[in-house]
Amino acid sequence: MPHIQQLSPHVADLIAAGEVVERPASVVKELIENAIDAGASSVVVELQNGGMSLIRVTDNGCGIAAEELPTAFLRHATSKLRSAEDLGAIGTLGFRGEALAAISSVSRLDVFTRQRGAAMGVSLHLEGGVPGPVEEAGCPEGTTFAVRDLFYNTPARLKFMKTDSAEASAAAGLIAQIALSHPEVSIRYLRDGKEELHTPGDNRLLSAIYAARGRDFALHLREVRGGGEGISVRGYVTEPLAGRGNRSMQTFFCCGRIIKSALLTAALEEAYANRQMRGKYPGCVLHIDLPLHLVDVNVHPAKTVVKFVNERALFSAVHHTVQDALDGDVEKKEAVLPPPPPVGNDVPPARREQKAVPKKDFYQSMDAKSFREKAGGGMGSEMGRRLVFRDPGQQQRPYVPRQTELVPPAAAVPAPKQERAVTAPAEPKKPAPTEPEQVALPVKPAPWRFAGEVLHTYIIAEDGDNVWLIDKHAAHERINFDRMRANAEPVMRQQLLSPLTVEVPPEQYAVLLENLPLLEEFGFEAEDFGSGCLVVRGIPSDLDPGRVRETLEELSGKILTGGQADPGAARDILLHTMACKAAIKGGWTSDPAELRVLIDKVQSGEVQYCPHGRPVKVKLSRYEIEKMFKRA
Ligand code: ADP
Ligand code: MG
Repeated sequence: MPHIQQLSPHVADLIAAGEVVERPASVVKELIENAIDAGASSVVVELQNGGMSLIRVTDNGCGIAAEELPTAFLRHATSKLRSAEDLGAIGTLGFRGEALAAISSVSRLDVFTRQRGAAMGVSLHLEGGVPGPVEEAGCPEGTTFAVRDLFYNTPARLKFMKTDSAEASAAAGLIAQIALSHPEVSIRYLRDGKEELHTPGDNRLLSAIYAARGRDFALHLREVRGGGEGISVRGYVTEPLAGRGNRSMQTFFCCGRIIKSALLTAALEEAYANRQMRGKYPGCVLHIDLPLHLVDVNVHPAKTVVKFVNERALFSAVHHTVQDALDGDVEKKEAVLPPPPPVGNDVPPARREQKAVPKKDFYQSMDAKSFREKAGGGMGSEMGRRLVFRDPGQQQRPYVPRQTELVPPAAAVPAPKQERAVTAPAEPKKPAPTEPEQVALPVKPAPWRFAGEVLHTYIIAEDGDNVWLIDKHAAHERINFDRMRANAEPVMRQQLLSPLTVEVPPEQYAVLLENLPLLEEFGFEAEDFGSGCLVVRGIPSDLDPGRVRETLEELSGKILTGGQADPGAARDILLHTMACKAAIKGGWTSDPAELRVLIDKVQSGEVQYCPHGRPVKVKLSRYEIEKMFKRA
């Protein structure tokens, strides 16, 4: 056994850097956040070669004092935190004092900075984290970081970088998000010298949307303002007739932080039920603010999905606020008014404080265990993935997912039902087949009657003289299967806030690596991480993040045994496995509203057999029943 030694600071920094700096986009994020923390009203980000040769971030913030400049690059050096008590009330984006140390240890870095009012600026060069002398420099007030040759001294990491254009796009996506979450800061992004984004920083969300999402998108929006039960929902949603071909224009911020959430998507889309054209999806930029103890972002670094304590209240707040905005829209149209001019004052006043909550150790001050217990499976759970459907045959209020244990005891919510929450086909909502292609018209009653469910598995429906038993899992699995096979719309992916590493046995590892492009088609964003490990950055939205490992193992196992002979076989295996994983299960309690959706699909003839060829429904005619009772 070699002797135990403390790692040299350099090696320790390299290890820590791996945690903070994953790719150029992560450098960009840290540097922009530092600029915002420094009170900048304008930030310019320049990338060359996807950030691999240069990332330069220039701000007009408060600058750094000459004598403190080298300290800023030490680990755990921060101006944002003094004592343990400060942790309870953090008002900045950063506070861990890790970013500059980490970034500088894996790059060649130059910083130029001049404090407000100072006569001169200073500069400092660091090479692999080793600083040179601080020198006087003529520079404007504010700070410029120039990061060159990222990962030049960590070849292993360098190997995992994607193409320059993929890295540039990842950074661009992130910059657009920061711009949308900070409309009070002007953000400009230049890629290889060409301006790709420029927000005015006029504190109007609509201006930021215009810049970040384009004119076409910004011109057809409705303002959303409202909420309930301590939840505020503000922002913009697309007009029903301006739906998009996919969900890429749905942006949700929770307490200033970008989040992906099937629950929020469902709440949004449900508000468009019967108004949105078939095959179209609403777009949005919605800021959701709620008391910090009701949301749990990244309690655990590897558990990357946001959790809400009260999903029911959140769903309902988003759904109703958006619905109200859309209803208002209809009234305006009836009054034959021209489209209203954009309304200003878009940013909730609390935004500045709320954005300032630190990214990770957000829950430090609370009892995380009791929180997690309350939060149950949260957004990553089977419940969180559920989409809610409006029953095409009924004009009822949408059913709101609820699960008794998810509601904190104090919330004493009136409980309409004691059933477990609704699960519905995780497919984008489509209007019922009988509906016209356009906006709200009276809904035709369904030609069948929902009579109930038995054994938590079989739906009973009645139509004319026939009684139908429908296997809910088989039906849902078939719907998923057809949707995935048709590949008609892009797979909805949930981006994990921090990547998940999945280790599998060597044989399966090889199979997964071979099938990475196929996995990508199905919504996985995964890559080789070496030594039997995959790093997973995104997963299909209807897959529970807690089941990623199991799913990948199951997939690779099945491909190993059955799919190697024929290249098409792997695809089929993937289709079957994913369709099954995303489907509601026999034994789960389901809400009548979702069962009605299934009946509708089955009765329309769209769904007949499960992907394994088993029937989805069986018929009992009046005659057969009467025969059983010796009436016939
Ligand atoms: P943290 O942001 O967690 O404090 P960083 O390593 O990102 O840690 O930054 C270290 C310190 O350097 C910050 O606390 C801040 O005082 C200073 N700093 C970094 N970037 C800037 C900037 N753009 N303008 C002014 N000060 C900065
Ligand atoms: Mg920082």
